[in-house]
Amino acid sequence: MAEGLKWFQCPVCKESIHWEVPTDELKEVKRFPAPIVIKHKNHYLICYLDSHRQLADTEVAIAFIKGESKE
Ligand SMILES: [Zn+2]
Repeated sequence: MAEGLKWFQCPVCKESIHWEVPTDELKEVKRFPAPIVIKHKNHYLICYLDSHRQLADTEVAIAFIKGESKE
């Protein structure tokens, strides 16, 4: 298994999700657990990674809304 590759069972559809830990992005993270949004089919999950890049928690996002801020 490649380094940084993780998998877990999707809490929504119960399928296995394989995903790669975004190593570069995590270098900028100063606070853990760090939330990462994963799109799986038509639903979104929020995974929390601890400072050892281990999966600390998983949440199901009930809705995904693209927000845009105004100047
Ligand atoms: Zn799923």
